[in-house]
Amino acid sequence: MKTEEEFYIRLLLDFNVTNFGIMEKKSKKKVVLVTGGARGIGSAISLELGTSEFIVIINYNNSKEHAKSVKKDIEKNGGTAFIMKANIAKSTGCKKLFKEIEAKVGTVDILINNAGITRDKSFKKMEIEEWNAVIDTNLSSAFNTSKLALPAMLDKKYGRIINVSSVIGQSGGFGQTNYSAAKSGLIGFSKSLAIETAKHGVTVNCICPGFIGTDMVKAMPPEVLKGIIEKIPANKLGDPKDIAKGVRYLIEASYITGQSLNINGGLYMM
Ligand code: NAP
Repeated sequence: MKTEEEFYIRLLLDFNVTNFGIMEKKSKKKVVLVTGGARGIGSAISLELGTSEFIVIINYNNSKEHAKSVKKDIEKNGGTAFIMKANIAKSTGCKKLFKEIEAKVGTVDILINNAGITRDKSFKKMEIEEWNAVIDTNLSSAFNTSKLALPAMLDKKYGRIINVSSVIGQSGGFGQTNYSAAKSGLIGFSKSLAIETAKHGVTVNCICPGFIGTDMVKAMPPEVLKGIIEKIPANKLGDPKDIAKGVRYLIEASYITGQSLNINGGLYMM
């Protein structure tokens, strides 16, 4: 700071930015994008980060009402959130999403690739459409969003990319060749990108949830689910908040990169 006058001008600008929401684009709060941030694990992550530290972008594809409700809850807690519709399974959807974020908020500091789907079927019965849908939504989306988020992260010498993988990407699962390939792919993708970005202040990690009590798991036949729970040493499904806490931890950890954080009640130990 050259002069006392400049110091006070700077102070005034900062005061405007943080206290009145003026020039939101220049806010010092970190901008977090949560793909599929309106439901299930994604909504728990949005709510965990929906505090005064972050501006949360809640991406949704179909669940607009859920997205509005999560935004409302964040604002009730004094946080700032935006909801943005985009189909992240398509590169055009990702591009549209980042265009909107940059126009309304600025660049993304923290990218949480959470959106995912299952299309379970034994390999014998699985069609190429079910393979492609799962690979596009769970894996190619991370390529597309990372490609769009990374240039600004490298410029700022700060960034966090957290990919929500799965225990199934580590252990495999019956009827899940597509899902398992996508989730394993995320682990390899994260390790390789971590090597490329570590010296620029950007970390890239995975979280591998076990079985968490969301719509995705509740869609399983009850007898299958009962059998799974019996095999979990913790003897219960995980809570979406367990995953959200892991996300916060990886955001705070600057010297952890290329890793997978297993949050699975002891179901699978590496
Ligand atoms: P969920 O309840 O079924 O929610 C899926 C989320 O993904 C929704 O928010 C959905 O958004 C979003 N999504 C799906 N396709 C999308 C697309 N094309 N574009 C944008 N958003 C899309 O699932 P969940 O259990 O919360 O799973 C979240 C992540 O955790 C997934 O990656 C999943 O594979 C992983 N995971 C879950 C478990 C588990 O036990 N639940 C275990 C391991 C890993 P809309 O509703 O707006 O379409």
